[in-house]
Amino acid sequence: MNKLKDKFNKIKIIIVGSGIIGKSNAFELSKYGFDITIIDQDEMQNSSNAALGILMGKIYQKRKGRSWILRQKSSELWPKWINILQRYNPKLIIEKPLFKLTSDLEKFKKLTTFVNNYPNDDLEIVEANSYILNPINKIFKGNKLQGIISHQDGRINPKILLETLNIALKTKNIKTINNQVIQIEKKIQKWNLKLKSGEILTSEIVILCNSLDSLKLINPELHKIKLKPVLGQAIEIFHEDKNINFLSYQNF
Ligand SMILES: Cc1cc2nc3c(=O)[nH]c(=O)nc-3n(C[C@H](O)[C@H](O)[C@H](O)COP(=O)(O)OP(=O)(O)OC[C@H]3O[C@@H](n4cnc5c(N)ncnc54)[C@H](O)[C@@H]3O)c2cc1C
Repeated sequence: MNKLKDKFNKIKIIIVGSGIIGKSNAFELSKYGFDITIIDQDEMQNSSNAALGILMGKIYQKRKGRSWILRQKSSELWPKWINILQRYNPKLIIEKPLFKLTSDLEKFKKLTTFVNNYPNDDLEIVEANSYILNPINKIFKGNKLQGIISHQDGRINPKILLETLNIALKTKNIKTINNQVIQIEKKIQKWNLKLKSGEILTSEIVILCNSLDSLKLINPELHKIKLKPVLGQAIEIFHEDKNINFLSYQNF
């Protein structure tokens, strides 16, 4: 690690976007000694602040395909990540279990069949007369909600997660700038980032963590990046050239 720290010490990284993804990247990369700056124009208005933070793994009924693989990976990685961050804020936990309820009898039957098909997945059937559902059924009078409980799934409160990442980042030497990046451009070996204030910042590496707005910052003709938005989630990235050094990659 120390060797890496020496190697990366003076390399500047600018992270655009201060949501869960931008902050998590900054935290992880800070271990290697990079000189990191996060830029965001308004981090209180992002999706991370609006999210419910629900982790649906075992409760998900479609047990094949890309979405299922992603859910499995997510269920494996989130507890590890939360474990690391709990050092900075013990209030950060995965709130378990997760309920899936319905007032529709047919849907309830399907849910019970699903639970019976996966006896090792820590799923439980809860009928309308269960004491656990009493308070909920009192609120939704006449609807008789029933369903299943997944003991391994849950919720991470996104606000607490963001607060925790802020606490963690304060222990690292990371700069933050409250501004909007309006243009990025590669000049020789460095990136120039033009801010709304007119200021221009320079760095060796730029990491775009500004969600869908990242497309606005990349001019495909200028950077020779064949980029098109795809709805969905990436579960793995790879490059055909096994020896590629991503840090010396010309475009990103
Ligand atoms: C209502 C809602 C509910 C959700 N519920 C769930 C859920 O239950 N479970 C789940 O897993 N996911 C959920 N999501 C999705 C999840 O919230 C997002 O996938 C995640 O928060 C995205 O994080 P992010 O850091 O990539 O982006 P964001 O949190 O959106 O952060 C991007 C940041 O980039 C900044 N930015 C943008 N452009 C620029 C620029 N040019 N210059 C500087 N800064 C810029 C923005 O200000 C913003 O702060 C939900 C999303 C929403 C909106």
